[in-house]
Amino acid sequence: MTIWNLGSINIDIVYAVPHLPLPGETLAALSLTRGLGGKGANMSVAAARAAARVVHLGAVGEDGAWAVERMMEYGIDTRLITTVDGPTGHAIILVDRAGENSIVLHPGANHLISEDLMGQALSEADTGDYLLLQNETLLQREAVTMARDLGLKVAYAAAPFDAEAARGVMSHADLMVLNAVEMEQLRAASGQDLAAIGVETVIVTEGGSGGRIHRAENGWEPEHFAAPRVEAVDTTGAGDTFTGYLVAGLDRGLPLRQSVELAARAAALMVTRHGTADVIPDLKDVQATRF
Ligand code: ADP
Repeated sequence: MTIWNLGSINIDIVYAVPHLPLPGETLAALSLTRGLGGKGANMSVAAARAAARVVHLGAVGEDGAWAVERMMEYGIDTRLITTVDGPTGHAIILVDRAGENSIVLHPGANHLISEDLMGQALSEADTGDYLLLQNETLLQREAVTMARDLGLKVAYAAAPFDAEAARGVMSHADLMVLNAVEMEQLRAASGQDLAAIGVETVIVTEGGSGGRIHRAENGWEPEHFAAPRVEAVDTTGAGDTFTGYLVAGLDRGLPLRQSVELAARAAALMVTRHGTADVIPDLKDVQATRF
């Protein structure tokens, strides 16, 4: 089947700095690197590296052609990524010698995805395909409504947490993935317990401790899953790798538990590497790694 990912595409511009600048300070950077990022693009890369067929629905600015090319190289179908006026979504990331960071995020083209184009795109989808979405674009509510009408399954990574988007999407989602902080934000914003939300399966990730699966069919009794023990050097993108692999596993017909375990192995391997989208491991690497 196919995963249709309505997702952000960002350019991560990373400056290594001797220390994070103080107000009014001008600081020379030690180095500059540019990479593909954004939760949407990361999840598309992860799902494609997990051998799923992935169509990315998104937008970039004129400066984003290389990001789209990079996604294409990872095997993602990019024909529904449009180029719009203005900048590609980007993150200016400052990292000091201790690894502490400061980030400025500009949504750019990610907020200019056309609803018409999304409708056209999803009308090509087959019943049983997945719609995957996060909170770095707009149009979440419209997308899930269309997806439901078309008989798609909906997987929602509620990150970064946005109460308004979550309200519009959760009750239509089959699967929701959040990290522990986002789960707290959800509880604070909705005041509801999981049973009242209307989603059948909620997975809460808890970093190096693994996480919990909550399923309606098991009376919401949390089922723990473990994270393989690894030496983590950079946890950026761990959640995105986890979600991309998880949905790829489910799309391939693997049972939930097995998909979660595969996702946890992929994310564990990911955190042993420096970088984001460009170092998401492929399925062969994940299968060949003994933890
Ligand atoms: P996010 O990256 O969204 O903040 P988490 O930190 O919860 O999300 O990580 C997502 C998943 O990645 C975890 O459930 C776990 O499977 C894996 N992971 C994250 N950090 C580690 C780690 N230090 N060791 C092994 N696996 C990890």
